[in-house]
Amino acid sequence: MGEATHKILVVEDDRQIQSFIGYALEQDGFCSLSANSGHSAMSLLISEPIELLLLDLGLPDCDGMEIIKRVREWSDMPIIVVSARDQDREKAAALDAGADDYLTKPFSATELLARIRVAIRHLRRQSGEKPQAVYQVGELKIDMEKRLTYLQGEELHLTPMEYNLLALLFKNCGKVLTTQYIIREVWGVGYGSDTQALRALMAALRRKIEKNPAKPRYIVTEIGVGYRLVDE
Ligand code: CA
Repeated sequence: MGEATHKILVVEDDRQIQSFIGYALEQDGFCSLSANSGHSAMSLLISEPIELLLLDLGLPDCDGMEIIKRVREWSDMPIIVVSARDQDREKAAALDAGADDYLTKPFSATELLARIRVAIRHLRRQSGEKPQAVYQVGELKIDMEKRLTYLQGEELHLTPMEYNLLALLFKNCGKVLTTQYIIREVWGVGYGSDTQALRALMAALRRKIEKNPAKPRYIVTEIGVGYRLVDE
């Protein structure tokens, strides 16, 4: 599948997690390199053709956030942050600094590989492949050329804002989007951070697309971070 050529750098100072990730990647045909500090990560990033970065935020010699900022000065490579459960604020900050996604420890190999596939797919889309017009997840479908949405084959009647929100989530299917990012994209720069407005819009959209809005199947809430359209 060509995925074997993707070189992934795993930056993690916990040796057990490092070898767990390395093994999972190898089993799935990925080629990986490892670093256990910010310093060794930076030197590999400069000397090797790395295509994706898996980054632990808590490193012995520096903050993972610093690495995200530095990499973003010269590269669009997908960055998936690996963090501890109690770091919600850090997760959102990492995503806003340019990380693409995050995994919360402990995570399964399945989860890890799914996130990597999503990130690689987005990378391919950005690099030249023409954007898709029609996307589908489960029974939910969007046609971006016609600006139409369907649920179980029935056309949905969304307001322009609801449509914009859903279209943004579809374009980033499987990826977590931060509250700040969504507000900026849907309402525009300068709207500030009206999370209340986003929550209200999300509730309205969920009432139209979810069978049980309290237990959403399509758009899941990433607590303290934002939202994600599930990738099936
Ligand atoms: Ca660590």
